[in-house]
Amino acid sequence: MRFRAVVRSHPQDHSVRSTRFATSGRTPRKPSLESLLQAVALGVVALAYSFPLPAAPTIKPPSRFTQVAGPTYRVRVVTGADPHLDVTADMPVPKAASKFLVRMALWCPGDYRAPRYDLAVRNVRTAEGAVLPQLSDGSWDIPFAGKSRVTIRYRVVPSEPSRYTENVRISPRWAFVHGPAYLIAPVEQAEGAARLTVSVPKGWRVECALPLSRGASSTFDAESVRQLADSPFVCGALRTADFKVSGKPHRIVAFNSAGHVGLPSLTRGLKRVVEAQQKMMGELPYDRYSFFCDIGGRTAPGNGATAGMEHASSARLAFPPTASLRTILGLAAHELAHVWNDHNQRDEVSPVYEPRTHNLWFIEGTPEFFAVQTLVRLGLASRSTLARELREANRAPQGVSLETLSMLAWRRDSKGDSALDDVYRRGKLGAMILDTTIRNRTNGKRSLVHVLAALNQKSTLQGPGSEEGLRKAVVEVGGTALGPVFDRVARSRSWRGSDIARVALN
Ligand SMILES: [Zn+2]
Repeated sequence: MRFRAVVRSHPQDHSVRSTRFATSGRTPRKPSLESLLQAVALGVVALAYSFPLPAAPTIKPPSRFTQVAGPTYRVRVVTGADPHLDVTADMPVPKAASKFLVRMALWCPGDYRAPRYDLAVRNVRTAEGAVLPQLSDGSWDIPFAGKSRVTIRYRVVPSEPSRYTENVRISPRWAFVHGPAYLIAPVEQAEGAARLTVSVPKGWRVECALPLSRGASSTFDAESVRQLADSPFVCGALRTADFKVSGKPHRIVAFNSAGHVGLPSLTRGLKRVVEAQQKMMGELPYDRYSFFCDIGGRTAPGNGATAGMEHASSARLAFPPTASLRTILGLAAHELAHVWNDHNQRDEVSPVYEPRTHNLWFIEGTPEFFAVQTLVRLGLASRSTLARELREANRAPQGVSLETLSMLAWRRDSKGDSALDDVYRRGKLGAMILDTTIRNRTNGKRSLVHVLAALNQKSTLQGPGSEEGLRKAVVEVGGTALGPVFDRVARSRSWRGSDIARVALN
């Protein structure tokens, strides 16, 4: 997830500025010895990117489709005075079950405010029409009387957007629907394939990154409920454009408003973003990818100018019609980079999953860092911009470690919002320091990309969401000297970029 925010740089600084690529409006301070050293160190760091990148390792793509009958969902999109979704879910009952409990997801990766999706659900009932009360823990207890599958029906009304994405938005001309916001799924997750069929008003089209079921125009197949939950769909009056990279289809789906950047320019730009990231990161870890461009769509609260939400094979990009190509591509580059760094923290539907992690700075800082590198490669940002950004990130108020900031970011108050902003800014700097140090220690043979590849081979418990798993992967790739560097970057309360950069460049 990412937002391109216009934020206050300090509580006492009431001039607003963009966090990215903007020149600081403050009066320059008199240079001290420390700031000069810092400038030199950061200059050397930026120079490191003049050298060719190490060969990118291949990251294992997700497992192939396996056909087992899991839940199926039929969703009817209703517009007009009372817009809503009518959902019919047909679900397998686990073998030897004494109870069959179902519920909504508790959160979505990339959304750090854990919304209550179930508040938008109405009238959950059996196929026969018996109303099912919601239990105090949020689940519904479905009577099944020896049946191997049961059907329930319910209604979902439009809901408020989360911090970075729409949940269920239905306008007269189009609708955007986010998986966790409409799916009721078994608490004990059914293994196997899930299926979604969408019915829409006459003349509307449906787009989803999942493959179409054979011969169907609006039925999609997913490996699992989890994959379905991670595959939003959009329908209505849509404009689309396609391109391929390495033979893999990519689709741009534009809706809501028309933008200043035309679809042909957007298509060329997004293709270059995908190509640049493939060069940096290696094999594209998906079969197809969709960019859902919600032009004029709702963005992050406060001063957010854009908002994005990553998914395994798609992203929602919300930006104003006046957004420049560079702004859109920077946002897209961040969301696309997530496909390499958060596979192992994805679990949208498990009721027991604990989404909070001390590594949020890494999960969001790494895509920020790779987004800047992508723009540099595309000639849309310069290395001096990069160095300036790092100096700005380094000026952010400190006194808490990146790991502590990562936990503070979950708070639903202004302290939480400000911690979340810093997770991006300082997380990007942290990612860059690790990357530079690994390159230096391995004579340019390895980089942060290898850390992501190592993490993608590991289980959820050792992936980017696990503190020790991340440190281990960094040391595995960069050598034992990386251990203390990682500790200073992630766990020290008072580091300064200049200090860490000097360590990094020893
Ligand atoms: Zn993100």
